[in-house]
Amino acid sequence: MLVVGGGNAGCAAALAAARTGARTMLVERYGFLGGTATAAMVGPWMTFHSGTDRIIGGIAQEIVERLIALGGSPGHIPDSSDYVPTITPFDPEIHKALLFDLMRESNVHLLLHALVVDAVRDARGAVRGATFATVGGMRTVLAGRTIDATADAFVAAAAGCALQQGDERGRVQPASLMFRLSHVDMNAVAAYVREHPEQMRTSLAPEARTADALTAVAGLYDLWQRAQAAGVEVPREVVSFFISPYPDEVTVNMTRVIDIDPLDPDDLTRAEIEARAQAMRLVAFFRDRVPGFAHARIAATATQIGVRESRRIVGEYTLTREDILERRTFDDAIARSAYPIDIHNPSGSGTTTHRLPPGTSYEIPYRCLVPQTVEDLLVAGRCISTTHEALASTRLTPTVMTFGQAAGTAAALSLAAGVTPRNVDVRALRERLIADGVDLRRAAAHV
Ligand SMILES: Cc1cc2nc3c(=O)[nH]c(=O)nc-3n(C[C@H](O)[C@H](O)[C@H](O)COP(=O)(O)OP(=O)(O)OC[C@H]3O[C@@H](n4cnc5c(N)ncnc54)[C@H](O)[C@@H]3O)c2cc1C
Repeated sequence: MLVVGGGNAGCAAALAAARTGARTMLVERYGFLGGTATAAMVGPWMTFHSGTDRIIGGIAQEIVERLIALGGSPGHIPDSSDYVPTITPFDPEIHKALLFDLMRESNVHLLLHALVVDAVRDARGAVRGATFATVGGMRTVLAGRTIDATADAFVAAAAGCALQQGDERGRVQPASLMFRLSHVDMNAVAAYVREHPEQMRTSLAPEARTADALTAVAGLYDLWQRAQAAGVEVPREVVSFFISPYPDEVTVNMTRVIDIDPLDPDDLTRAEIEARAQAMRLVAFFRDRVPGFAHARIAATATQIGVRESRRIVGEYTLTREDILERRTFDDAIARSAYPIDIHNPSGSGTTTHRLPPGTSYEIPYRCLVPQTVEDLLVAGRCISTTHEALASTRLTPTVMTFGQAAGTAAALSLAAGVTPRNVDVRALRERLIADGVDLRRAAAHV
């Protein structure tokens, strides 16, 4: 079994495959695992909950529990900005170390610093592995089943799968470079939003806005408008930051580079340069204008800009906006999510949000992981088969980890049964996923 791409989806896929009995190799282009969660430092994870009900379990929940034990996460905590029921902050450095531990414990073989450049196909066109550019030259890894967890669908593209990108005009959501600020006085932030209650999106009563209660801050509208009027150029409509596992450190999600194709190397270069310039403007904004940040320092900037959206495969089923908002059910459901459809404007500032009714969730079918024509290949993570709008909900980290667990389990079951992943016994797959902690209960509205 070959898993290409060691982001959270790929890691979950590799763990699930190995634990289901397949000899598994995970190949990653960087020298560490975690992908967008570590290389792009994107967090907190959103969301494991629908209302008060935790609907994401399995390997995703196992990782959170291991992070808590290592002091790398406070676990699931209420979202004080009222966007989702809970958020799950984590320390990306501890996450990197944990993922290596998990791979070792489950006997997943690793190949790092290896960039996939091609797919290997047999005479029937089925995928038989992939070729990588490594520090030692080109290396081919052969495998009975391959999982593309590169987020950009690189293996699927090389294997000739049908692909889509962006909205009806090919436009994708903007990219953002995350950074962390340390030496932040959250008591001063809390005092400001108590004294200016209308300046924060929250249902917390002013007197309840203590440093401990502020897990996510969205707003500070007047401070931001004055800064923009004074020439701070960042196409973002609100100030937005999240707490980390540490009381004086926050993660800022505010840079935004619009109108880029993340698979065009020139666009990606422009995006990295533009986002880093925005980050420096934002650091100055926080220090100069936001109470509690006068002594803030840059603790870290991400290794690479965070890409919200690129290519998606065209699979046996394509999940749509209507499937999500009408909460359609599927006999081959392998994951649930309660995250809204959250589209950051591809061409300017502003974010459109379509929510599910509180306490409900939707299902994602296994067929979204199965490419239409190519055999012995599955995809996991951001690049599964959805529309542009549905991706704006399915792309969230807890959900993509569940896709990874489903893909790894399905690929291992298909190897053991000697059938292609397309023909895997979905009932057996779902039973195995449920036994391994994945929550596939029907949402209450459909029982
Ligand atoms: C700016 C931004 C904000 C977001 N906000 C949130 C949030 O608040 N909460 C949340 O839960 N989610 C959020 N998301 C979404 C979420 O982080 C991602 O969609 C999710 O992490 C994708 O996981 P993945 O495993 O599919 O892909 P990735 O994590 O991107 O993993 C892909 C892996 O494949 C590797 N790879 C890629 N190409 C190659 C290659 N050619 N050869 C070898 N390896 C390769 C990469 O290095 C990487 O490790 C956000 C995303 C972005 C970009």
